[in-house]
Amino acid sequence: MNPIPVDGCVYLVGAGPGDPELLTLRAVRLLEKADVVVYDHLVSSAVLDFVSPTAQRIFAGKRRNEHTMRQEQINTLLVQLAQEGKQVVRLKGGDPFIFGRGGEELQTLAAHGVAFVVVPGITAASGVSSYAGIPLTHRDYAQSCIFVTGHLKDGSADLDWPSLVRPHQTVVIYMGLGGLPEICRQMILHGAPPDLPIAVVQDGSIATQRVVTGTLANMPERVAQAKLRSPCLTLIGEVVKLHHSLAWFNPIANPELVHDATLDRGRCRAEVLSG
Ligand code: SAH
Repeated sequence: MNPIPVDGCVYLVGAGPGDPELLTLRAVRLLEKADVVVYDHLVSSAVLDFVSPTAQRIFAGKRRNEHTMRQEQINTLLVQLAQEGKQVVRLKGGDPFIFGRGGEELQTLAAHGVAFVVVPGITAASGVSSYAGIPLTHRDYAQSCIFVTGHLKDGSADLDWPSLVRPHQTVVIYMGLGGLPEICRQMILHGAPPDLPIAVVQDGSIATQRVVTGTLANMPERVAQAKLRSPCLTLIGEVVKLHHSLAWFNPIANPELVHDATLDRGRCRAEVLSG
């Protein structure tokens, strides 16, 4: 007699900003038992080391202007794998519900009656700011914090500028590297002081972390000179002043703090599914 088919399950798991020690216990446990792991380019190779050697790994992209798999393809793939009865980990950098399109993937699963579980992760705002020594709030400098995406549509960031230039607030911009000159320009245009401190952090929490600080006025030039590349997180506000006294993560001086973690740049791409 044939066994009754049992549908699999999709675990939407946050991988944190890069340092594998920032994974949750549940994330590690699920990576160890998954049949298949579908992961994004922001997931570090050290995090992938927790994946069971027998599990299938599927690289799903995506990078700006270079989408390895379209979102609809990923959604369909997750449904298909679960319907084959597999335990699927959908692994995303940071937290899956913060600029991760995790909600969209779950909507497709729900529409197909596929069971799912969500495992939060440490989002870049919190992980990267911690490793850069920039508290997001501080009694003297910021009583609120706002997360926005700086991804530009047609070259212009469609952001609510008046709400971003409020004083005593920290603005955290995800995906804001390409749009940085426009972001700085618009902030000043909408009344932010040109000397408002700003930091851009590349590869937060891993060995290649770099922090560039400046002001709204001089940051576009500094970032261009530093030749920063994605992923970068932008932090704007008076709290950035604290970086100089609170920066603690120095991968070169303290190698014991660092795992051999590089943000994965397609290491396991050979296993991208063909259909
Ligand atoms: N879901 C993720 C965000 C995905 S959007 C999260 O919760 O963190 C991708 C953006 O996240 C990048 O463009 C960058 O702005 C930010 N980011 C993620 N990891 C980062 C890291 N280690 N260092 C710097 N920025 C990072």
